[in-house]
Amino acid sequence: MDALYYDVHTSNEGAVVPIIEGPVSADDVAEWSRTADVVIIGLGIAGASAALEAQRAGAEVLVLERASAGGGASALSQGQFYLGGGTAVQQACGYEDSPEEMYRFLRAVTTTDEDDKLRVFCEGSVEQFDWLEELGVPFAREAYRQKAVYTRTGEGLLSTGNEKVWPFREQARPAARGHQVSGDGDISGGHVAMTAILGRVAQEQIPVVCEANVIALVQDNGGRVVGVKVRKDGVDSYVQARSGVVLAAGSFNLNDDVTSVNMPLFSAYGKPLGEPTNDGAGLMLGRTVGVAERGMHGLVATASIYPPEDLIKGIVVNAQGRRFVAEDVYHGRMAHHIARQPDAKAFLILDEEIFGYPKHGSHTFIDAFETVSEMEAALGMPDGALAQTLAEYNGNIADGADAEFHKHADWLKQLQPPYAVFEISIPRSDYHWMSLGGLATDADGRALREDGTAVPGLYAAGACTSHLAQDGDEYASGMSLAGGSLFGRRAGAHAAAMARV
Ligand SMILES: Cc1cc2nc3c(=O)[nH]c(=O)nc-3n(C[C@H](O)[C@H](O)[C@H](O)COP(=O)(O)OP(=O)(O)OC[C@H]3O[C@@H](n4cnc5c(N)ncnc54)[C@H](O)[C@@H]3O)c2cc1C
Repeated sequence: MDALYYDVHTSNEGAVVPIIEGPVSADDVAEWSRTADVVIIGLGIAGASAALEAQRAGAEVLVLERASAGGGASALSQGQFYLGGGTAVQQACGYEDSPEEMYRFLRAVTTTDEDDKLRVFCEGSVEQFDWLEELGVPFAREAYRQKAVYTRTGEGLLSTGNEKVWPFREQARPAARGHQVSGDGDISGGHVAMTAILGRVAQEQIPVVCEANVIALVQDNGGRVVGVKVRKDGVDSYVQARSGVVLAAGSFNLNDDVTSVNMPLFSAYGKPLGEPTNDGAGLMLGRTVGVAERGMHGLVATASIYPPEDLIKGIVVNAQGRRFVAEDVYHGRMAHHIARQPDAKAFLILDEEIFGYPKHGSHTFIDAFETVSEMEAALGMPDGALAQTLAEYNGNIADGADAEFHKHADWLKQLQPPYAVFEISIPRSDYHWMSLGGLATDADGRALREDGTAVPGLYAAGACTSHLAQDGDEYASGMSLAGGSLFGRRAGAHAAAMARV
């Protein structure tokens, strides 16, 4: 069951760099092979959402997809959508939520300065849920109430962020917002979702050309993007876009040139999530016409210590034997903080009562220890450092609270010998990661230059754009699919509206 999530990636050795050419001048285009109002590059969730919305708004749409079929990373994904504000699933499962509570939480946990986009995301969330469900994306009215990274047991809702983590639990009413598309055995929720969405793209007869690799944008003399250069079956041709081109070509997770510069630790030791065409083509195409980039160092990584959730009752320490984060945080936030420790090293300390093997991450079991001093020596920690940490932790818990990091009372217990240790260091475990940075866009998906002005005629959405959460400290699982779909739709709608002016 875990295999899909953890095996679906391509190692850095397989990384490829897309062939992207500089922008072509429209004056040099002798002939347009085809024309549409809105030309969409890529048929993952962002492109499909843009296409549906643009065509429904009356635009003539054409989707160009480089692979032999649509789906992209979206179809490989777990199918978690971060949605809230009071969706039908939240209501059925007894969670009170509102757009304002969702905004309050996301405002507190993220550092984005794109407040308008954050508001649009929260205020549009219920409608976005309804839209997906209307397409046939299935969400069961049942919640999974334990801590999990994802579920394949049919539940439609689980907590996938830091809502119950201090200080956020005091800043916004916690609610589960991870809407999990029902997977089916080995079939992931992402596959189920994209089967429904692509089925609707076909049903609504949106023109899609596969094995069509977009290798350049075409600009007129005023800098407006008016088309694309596409390579199909070894032949290059030009497709004209009367009102807009939408870049929805996915992430750069597999592009070693970009990741080794921007996220060297995870590029070297982690496992990028994605499929071979997640090589940064969208980013590169945007670069050719001066689109700004945001948050390029940002990523979310995971090698969760839970499930089993009892492991959260242990403590996580660095090589100095010091705690540095509350152990009940979202797994991406945990990875973010481990990456910031000396040598990105960390250990999970358990005792006999809560012992179990972490289900994810291939963490290394070090050993069991009768005494703290043996444990310190085996882990190469300064004498007495871990003893002090354990004494402080147990003392705080005796007083009723984790005074240092405010781990929730649900996870507090004193740790007693014998102990057991897993190493959860970034270089020693299997940290799967995805980038969160990318092209800058506004709330309507318009691609922005460094000065904040829009590149006329160009839109971008999905994983080739920067996310609202800038890193694993801020992310909640499902924000990528939800944001890609919601902002993809907005890009499609805006580009379509331009066709009417
Ligand atoms: C295993 C896994 C699990 C994940 N789980 C989740 C999850 O549960 N929730 C969540 O929110 N996120 C999840 N993610 C991340 C999420 O799936 C992606 O960020 C998201 O699907 C990106 O959508 P997209 O439409 O932007 O890109 P994609 O779905 O990757 O689609 C991009 C498309 O563009 C095409 N393309 C690329 N270059 C060109 C070109 N030059 N010309 C024409 N076409 C081109 C590609 O072939 C591809 O079909 C997961 C990712 C993976 C890999």
